[in-house]
Amino acid sequence: RFLSLEGGEGAGKSTQAKRLAAALEARGVHVVLTREPGGTEGAEAIRGLLMQGAVNRWSAHTETLLFAAARADHVEKLIRPAVEAGSWVLCDRYVDSTRAYQGAQDIDDAAILALHGFGSKGLLPDRTLILDLPDGAGHARSIARDGGAADRFGARGPDFHNAVAAQFRRIAAAEPDRVRLIDASGSMDDVTTSLMDALADLLP
Ligand code: C5P
Repeated sequence: RFLSLEGGEGAGKSTQAKRLAAALEARGVHVVLTREPGGTEGAEAIRGLLMQGAVNRWSAHTETLLFAAARADHVEKLIRPAVEAGSWVLCDRYVDSTRAYQGAQDIDDAAILALHGFGSKGLLPDRTLILDLPDGAGHARSIARDGGAADRFGARGPDFHNAVAAQFRRIAAAEPDRVRLIDASGSMDDVTTSLMDALADLLP
């Protein structure tokens, strides 16, 4: 199986990725936890290009291409082989992050999906879990945690983060079989439980 975990800044995505992987392992599933951009040597090199340098080093169009290229390498060399070998791959961010973050910068959703078709043969997760917080809450949490520094662009404003969250909600509404919106405002245990509940039909 292939799962992706998505969400905006401050939603607790990295923490929940580890907790979810552990919960799945406890159910006897072998989990490969990975993240994007990155996950392979080549994709990590592209990650370096994306995360370093000036805020406006790349246009939204170029950025979309770089994310798609990193994903193609990750899918070909890590995700597809691991799934075919019988592992469950849990990926921290995937194509829906590009649809949300670059979509929030007016990159056309159909173009992102066409690139995904070309680069990664359109591979979609069996289930995508999106951590959702009320508008403003994630941004406030990320500012409280690290001054917003975990955001690649330092502090992009709350309007941008609300636009990203709106994109994620749009994707969830449009693809209810694949994508589930998870309320991330509860305790860490509550959120992990909700994530596992949203996988109930896939579990052995
Ligand atoms: O997953 P994480 O929160 O570490 O993401 C790293 C950074 O990359 C974040 O600032 C996120 O907003 C940004 N990002 C982005 N476009 C994507 C994926 C991530 O701007 N498609």
